[in-house]
Amino acid sequence: MSCAQPLVDAFNRRITYLRLSVTDRCDLRCSYCMPEAMQFLPKKEVLTLDELHKVALAFIDRGVSKIRLTGGEPLVRRDMIELVRALGRKLGDGLDELTLTTNGTQLERFADDLAAAGVKRINVSLDTLDPVLFETLSRRNRLGDVLRGIAAAREAGLKVKLNTVALKGLNEAEIPFLIEWAHRHGHELTLIEAMPLGEIDGERADHYLPLTAVRDDLEARWTLTPSEHRSGGPARYVQIAQTGGRLGFITPLTNNFCAGCNRVRVTATGQLYACLGGAEQVDLRAALRSDAPDANVALALDEAMRIKPEKHHFRIERGAAPAQPRPMSLTGG
Ligand code: SAM
Ligand code: SF4
Repeated sequence: MSCAQPLVDAFNRRITYLRLSVTDRCDLRCSYCMPEAMQFLPKKEVLTLDELHKVALAFIDRGVSKIRLTGGEPLVRRDMIELVRALGRKLGDGLDELTLTTNGTQLERFADDLAAAGVKRINVSLDTLDPVLFETLSRRNRLGDVLRGIAAAREAGLKVKLNTVALKGLNEAEIPFLIEWAHRHGHELTLIEAMPLGEIDGERADHYLPLTAVRDDLEARWTLTPSEHRSGGPARYVQIAQTGGRLGFITPLTNNFCAGCNRVRVTATGQLYACLGGAEQVDLRAALRSDAPDANVALALDEAMRIKPEKHHFRIERGAAPAQPRPMSLTGG
């Protein structure tokens, strides 16, 4: 396939990775992600399956080789597996990797279909193995579904990476146990600092836990050896001698990683956000629904490269407004 002009931003960063949100809806209500009474978008505002497919193809044509489907919870969108199948056909034909980030609640049902469509690895978010804390954190009693989903994914041959948001006073004390559990089951685990995105019910600062502190704590317990391993994203890794597994750290607050940014995000309504932490956006839905969709989508992608900011500026302070009013569930985490 001929590749049109590659996507390169004003800071000479080549964009090869798209995070595409297929829905803003979710079957959990994680307290750090959204309020209990989250208002979801009317369905008509959300891109159709065909529009999502066209967006993905436009990016592949501009040299994007990795696509992660996300949300909201991607697996709550009923027709999403058809998109996975359609994009799976682009693997080896412009696309190197198709993956998704999921909360795992519906994975038991979809694991085989995902594997059959060419998905090899998925990320599952898991903040706790304690059913009571799971229900407190996500406001839903679904830990059993998630654990069955993870097991089904493994059985289907998918490599499962776990993502855990570190939360002071919530899962803080459980982090070493989560890491041991993950490594015992053959999963890599990556810890993530909570980001100030979207309004939530409580005070974000109460549960913000810098990973610098977590790392100090883990170093007092285990031998952590920095690893050269890179997954094409912002995570930095260590190998843990005692558990025999790899641990990642994503540190948007304590160690900015924007210089190596290779990605953009598209919401389920077709807004391309050039940076997770910024307001810069272009409207792909308007371009797709215009008289000259191909040309206008190409122009919108060029514009996105011009406006992509150099870095995010996250701070978590008591009483402060979020860096962006939109939650991760809208932008596509
Ligand atoms: N629902 C799916 C899931 O939870 O995996 C996909 C979307 S979710 C928005 C993607 C990731 O963003 C999850 O790992 C979640 O824990 C994380 N996340 C949500 N809000 C966050 C925040 N404010 N700061 C850091 N991570 C956040
Ligand atoms: Fe849903 Fe994922 Fe947000 Fe949790 S983090 S509420 S699972 S979108």
